[in-house]
Amino acid sequence: MEIAIIAHDGKKAEMVQFLMDNKEILQSKSINLISTGTTGSKAKKAGFQVEQMLSGPYGGDAQIAARVAEGKTEIVLFFRDPLEKHPHEPDIFMLMRLCDVYDVPLATNPATAQLILNSI
Ligand code: PGA
Repeated sequence: MEIAIIAHDGKKAEMVQFLMDNKEILQSKSINLISTGTTGSKAKKAGFQVEQMLSGPYGGDAQIAARVAEGKTEIVLFFRDPLEKHPHEPDIFMLMRLCDVYDVPLATNPATAQLILNSI
């Protein structure tokens, strides 16, 4: 199962904490983590194996959106920072839109992400 992780800068610490809290399931062999660039670097530093795409503002969200459309990514954990403006907002909306088009679970905060992980 491919799970995408993405965190805006203001949410990267929460993402690392979330990953650590769910280490057992996220490091299991049946799960393949993919990420945007910088989020992936943080996850790797925390000891996770992650396939890194480009950084979000340089197309990473768009790459993950394409994987959702292709049926490769089955869950998206996207910790957005609602208090910041983002230059790649169109890509962010594209990713969220495609999750809805393809009925792919999308968590935009840790509480929802936890509910999703608890159910797999
Ligand atoms: P980043 O991208 O992990 O490369 O910081 C996340 C984003 O801004 O969408």
